[in-house]
Amino acid sequence: MARVIMTIIASNLQVIRSALAAAADRAGRRADDITLLAVSKTFSTDAIREAYHVGQKQFAESYVQEALEKMSALTDLPIEWHYIGPVQSNKTQAIAKNFSWVHGVDRLSVAQRLAAQRPADQPPLQICLQVNISNEPSKRGVAQHEVGALAMQVAKLPRLNLRGLMAVPAPSDDEAAQHRPFARLRKLRNQLNQQGLQLDTLSMGMSSDFAAAIAEGATIVRIGTAIFGNRTYQKGTI
Ligand SMILES: *Cc1c(COP(=O)(O)O)cnc(C)c1O
Repeated sequence: MARVIMTIIASNLQVIRSALAAAADRAGRRADDITLLAVSKTFSTDAIREAYHVGQKQFAESYVQEALEKMSALTDLPIEWHYIGPVQSNKTQAIAKNFSWVHGVDRLSVAQRLAAQRPADQPPLQICLQVNISNEPSKRGVAQHEVGALAMQVAKLPRLNLRGLMAVPAPSDDEAAQHRPFARLRKLRNQLNQQGLQLDTLSMGMSSDFAAAIAEGATIVRIGTAIFGNRTYQKGTI
């Protein structure tokens, strides 16, 4: 049984990589300029190993405790770990010590804690600011009109390298509707660069909308379900 599941992960990865390359091609972009981030939250370390052994090197987790347990079981693999969950103040130390990237920073206090807690013997922590790109009242992310001020402050903090913007738009099955929030995030990033920042990263696109995100300039797509299958327990249960 395990064997069959593992084979599915390898073949899913192959399918995603060619879909990613095709989307890049249609957009006149190089597939090499787009990082496929495997979102392994809720999946086992065996699943991560299988993906790793077919060439997947970057993995993302959303729950700190779960991530730390997996990391300690996978110390033999030089995985690059990305944190994509909500950044709670009482978890910043564990995040600052154990991850290479944090995609969900949406307020200055959290960025300040991450900067203070990033160990000096490690490379700077790579940061994306999460933007509430669909203006959903209950959603995480800094409001679009506030992202500029936040970015200017975060860019000045030590031990952090502000790389770009991240968003999780409201889901839509309509292709044209999928494009619009991604285009807005790209414009926001471009405006910040015109104001003197050097942001090279747009972390946007998931299993159901990564092609639209790539068309609009995504440099990191975060894909879980299409690689590992459906998650069997709910967000926030651990
Ligand atoms: C879970 C998650 C993903 C992956 O979503 P899929 O639809 O399974 O590809 C991407 N980004 C964030 C922030 C997530 O929490």
